[in-house]
Amino acid sequence: MGVKVAKFGGSSLADAGQFRKVKAIIESDSARSYVVPSAPGKRSYTDDKVTDMLYHCASLVELGEAFSEPFDSIVERFIDIAFELELKCDIRAELETVHARIASGEGADYAASRGEYLNGLLLADYLGVDFIDAAEVIFFDESGAFDAEKTQDAMHARLKRHERAVVPGFYGSMPNGAIKTFSRGGSDISGAIVARGCGAEIYENWTDVSGLLMADPRVVKNPAPIEVVTYAELRELAYMGASVLHDEAIFPVRQACIPINVKNTNAPDEPGTMIVSDAGDGDPGTITGIAGKRGFTVIALEKDKMNAAIGFAADVLGVLRDYGVSIEHMPTGIDTLSVVVADNQLEGKRQKVIDGILARCEPDSLEIYDSMALLAVVGRGMVRRIGSSARIFSALAEAGVNIRMIDQGSSEMNIIVGVESEALNGAVNAIYQKLTRDER
Ligand code: ASP
Repeated sequence: MGVKVAKFGGSSLADAGQFRKVKAIIESDSARSYVVPSAPGKRSYTDDKVTDMLYHCASLVELGEAFSEPFDSIVERFIDIAFELELKCDIRAELETVHARIASGEGADYAASRGEYLNGLLLADYLGVDFIDAAEVIFFDESGAFDAEKTQDAMHARLKRHERAVVPGFYGSMPNGAIKTFSRGGSDISGAIVARGCGAEIYENWTDVSGLLMADPRVVKNPAPIEVVTYAELRELAYMGASVLHDEAIFPVRQACIPINVKNTNAPDEPGTMIVSDAGDGDPGTITGIAGKRGFTVIALEKDKMNAAIGFAADVLGVLRDYGVSIEHMPTGIDTLSVVVADNQLEGKRQKVIDGILARCEPDSLEIYDSMALLAVVGRGMVRRIGSSARIFSALAEAGVNIRMIDQGSSEMNIIVGVESEALNGAVNAIYQKLTRDER
């Protein structure tokens, strides 16, 4: 039977009550052999995350100020859990060590990592399984980059010696032994690394939502959940602003073709979302999701007989390269070419870029559209349905949305539409309603 890795986010382990849910989940499936916890998260909307409190302590030390007040609140969080669950491990002694090392100026990474470390100790005790310190199995190189190969070798060898274990998320160690963390939300990455290390059948990512939704619920009312999404589709959606998993969490498991199942600790029977490498072609015409992002500028160029002018596009791109501007999209027509760039790419050099293009490319016209938004309609099934784009564009026309740009990825897995920023939410809604309600 295959092995499962279960990563639990901060809200899934915020207090003793949540620990109980986690234990029930682990015990309901004996394949759930390795568990990767985050630090305790918020218990309520106004609560603090332990990781934020630890960062706060480290910054007070750096300023030479006392940190006992925030540290006491951290102590309370862990002691409460240990007390309520009647745990045996000596968490007080551990907290004292952590206090001393933060006080000695060990730094922000060390401090922040202790949320996961201490939570891992408690969880291992509560589940009655081994504890593996992530510093011994997750490695960064001299430059601070994650060392995938060294980690894989060490992780694989170590997990073979433990039938069941807790490996805390978010951190590893540098060649000199110092603790280093991933970027915020990085326990997702640790979970993926553990899953790759043991060749898991599945990587379960437990959180407080039942998977991914087809659209942002702040924009679309009650969007449907996504049952299955491919890594490639997810990358498109995440890039356009949909967020559930840490971006870098995909790579270790994608390499090893391990599916991810995003599930809800508070509703464990719901299926959640499966993220897989290949999901077949999908139902023809159905979309997987829609996401939108503001903050783009379109530079639109026109030149008579552009199609015959050899090197025109290369010249435009050359100017952008010279100014270090990266581009997002470049839709073209016979005599037109547009480049879409993120606003922050043009900061401080917008006029120079425009002058450079005018001088080098001599277009008949150059127009700039500011405050643009892009929306991506993503779906592996779209390619096999004639008229997918027609339905998208008629939805936008019916909603009175002015389309400024269209770009269809060559995989035909996504259609990107540029609209004015203030029209974005209306556009996403119009497309969602039309494509999910229409006959398919
Ligand atoms: N506790 C860390 C954070 O808050 C890492 C994580 O939860 O994934 O960013």
